Amino acid sequence: MKIYNFSAGPSILPQVTIEKTAEAVKNFNGIGLSVLEISHRSKDFQAVMDEVDALFKELLNIPEGYSVLLLGGGASMQFCMVPYNLMEKKSAYLNTGTWASKALKEAKLFGEAVEVASSKDTLFNYIPKDYVIPTDADYFHVTTNNTIYGTQLHEDLDSPVPLVADMSSDIFSRPIDISKYALIYGGAQKNLAPAGVAFVIVKDELLGKVSRPIPSMLDYRTHIKDGSMFNTPPVLPIYSAMHTLRWLKELGGLSVMQKMNEEKAAILYDAIDNSSIFEGTAAKEDRSLMNVCFVMKDKYKDLEPEFLKFATEKGMSGIKGHRSIGGFRASIYNAMPKEGVQALVDCMNEFEKKQLD
Ligand SMILES: *Cc1c(COP(=O)(O)O)cnc(C)c1O
Repeated sequence: MKIYNFSAGPSILPQVTIEKTAEAVKNFNGIGLSVLEISHRSKDFQAVMDEVDALFKELLNIPEGYSVLLLGGGASMQFCMVPYNLMEKKSAYLNTGTWASKALKEAKLFGEAVEVASSKDTLFNYIPKDYVIPTDADYFHVTTNNTIYGTQLHEDLDSPVPLVADMSSDIFSRPIDISKYALIYGGAQKNLAPAGVAFVIVKDELLGKVSRPIPSMLDYRTHIKDGSMFNTPPVLPIYSAMHTLRWLKELGGLSVMQKMNEEKAAILYDAIDNSSIFEGTAAKEDRSLMNVCFVMKDKYKDLEPEFLKFATEKGMSGIKGHRSIGGFRASIYNAMPKEGVQALVDCMNEFEKKQLD
């Protein structure tokens, strides 16, 4: 039976990424050594770093004046690195979920971090639209895709102050206008590579403006200067990322990826909207193309464990909802094929038919 991986993260990767990574673990570039045991400063590995950097810039159309960094510590490390490097006195945050709240909490350690709006009262089921960004803030922080609650910002915002975005779970899912952002970061384990590496895309001219001393490892300038090799970088996830990026390029790039993602999400949301037992949890206009959250209508609530068992037995792995909202969450990242989404929909329809017959 084909198993489809709907996990939120770590999550599904392109099959070619997994195969190429497995090969390189045994024999990297045919040199008779594993990618796990060679120097990160070797010519062969430097070529991997260079290609990842070049593919980031090409696929995302990154303008001059920005650097791409590959760092340890995950997206969560960026929650503190961002204010460390960019916040002198004040910053502003849009609170759209658990990860946004965690980012805001760290910024509060550095000064006045303002929550401009929050959708917490309604269990983060929408993205606030009416808010004012204080023009004396050093930056404005958003989470473009709320992995846990299944909401997504579908456009690149205009901000009067430098815009910072956590794109952990929707990077490379659509083209973005990098020039609107001062800094973009994320963990790799949703749409790019195995866990262990975080990416940062930063506009160089914004650095070096805060007065506090910054420890070397937490200073973006250290990593820009040393090409993400100040210390040993997470070599294996970086190697895997290279293959995911090659796969994206071969597919036709991010406009093609976006179309595929829209098509996949439409299949699933249509099934949810046309169902008499399931319902979506996120406001329609803010629905995520990456994480589709749904529950059973009140009348059928008791059937949730039964559906989970039914779907799991049919090969749908990882669809249990996050503990904070319950129900189900199907993460349909870039690497999830349309057939996987269709298989889940077939499963939902079959279960529904059984209940209503
Ligand atoms: C998963 C996730 C994180 C946390 O990433 P780590 O690499 O585990 O620190 C942060 N933000 C968002 C939006 C996420 O989806």
